[in-house]
Amino acid sequence: MRFFRLSAFAALAAGALSAQNLIPRQPIIDMHVHASMSAGGQPACANTPAFLASDPATKEDRFGWKPVPCANPLLPAKTPEAYPKEVQAEMERLNVTAVVMGDEKTVNQWKADAPGRVIPGTSFDRNALSGPKMEAELKRLREAYTKGGFRIMGEVGLQYEGISPSDPAVDAYFALAEELDIPVGVHMGTGGSGRANVTTPKFRGSMGNPLLFEEVLARHPKLRLWIMHSGYPMIDNLLTLLAANSHVYCDVAGLIWSYPIKEVNHYIQRIVEAGFGDRVMFGTDQLLWPNLMSQSINIIDTAEYLTPEQKRDILYNNAARFLRLDQKK
Ligand SMILES: [Zn+2]
Repeated sequence: MRFFRLSAFAALAAGALSAQNLIPRQPIIDMHVHASMSAGGQPACANTPAFLASDPATKEDRFGWKPVPCANPLLPAKTPEAYPKEVQAEMERLNVTAVVMGDEKTVNQWKADAPGRVIPGTSFDRNALSGPKMEAELKRLREAYTKGGFRIMGEVGLQYEGISPSDPAVDAYFALAEELDIPVGVHMGTGGSGRANVTTPKFRGSMGNPLLFEEVLARHPKLRLWIMHSGYPMIDNLLTLLAANSHVYCDVAGLIWSYPIKEVNHYIQRIVEAGFGDRVMFGTDQLLWPNLMSQSINIIDTAEYLTPEQKRDILYNNAARFLRLDQKK
């Protein structure tokens, strides 16, 4: 593909053959990187959540995660301005190409700063669901996808508004993606952080049910959809949807670092062992901590339940097939 630096990948892969650490130098696709840094970043430790109970009679913490010390904390970028540069340096070091999502201007800057490593994505304003606002968004997106070089619709965050992806109000966006053959990534499952009532009052856990896609997939049979966060924790519904729709994929972004490692491994293992090892795609949900990328890759690299081939499928091959990059590594 035009936006994919195959020659550089081939050179790096060849160089890696003589190195000890073969797996980290092979190309990786991260399906889930946010172009802008989230506000209020704090150091954190991957895979150590403890969602503390709260009492609505008292002021509730915004997230309620119990801080757990660790040897290798996730460290936020120094500033929002430094965030893209620090993440791009990690992408270069780890041989990662990423789906980078955000507003068009910011994503275009990423493309300019990290040529060949960015698959650009942008989504619609989730408050633009009718009238002239929606018309303007549809027009903007059509231009972005046909003239602006954008390749992805995402991240679509309807769950935060309590809206089902099959809601007729948002159908025109999925119709556009189907018409233009643009892959769509929709947030599904994780979120709320135990304090949905405080942080995102419209968020509904039930709107993260992967089976909510059945109607939109029936209306748009050629839609290239991936379920972000693999619909965690609704594993049975995810497997039901994957079984019924063989062109639907999922990513492990977010869930891979934000739940206990035993739970993460159990969830991914269940998808793979159910027979869907060719649909699971690596992703970080990078939004704050540049060193999140290496820690997340390491979780797949060290997964005892995966064969070397399955690791490569998750880290690269499945995404390359889904995105039609037609390059096996
Ligand atoms: Zn998300």
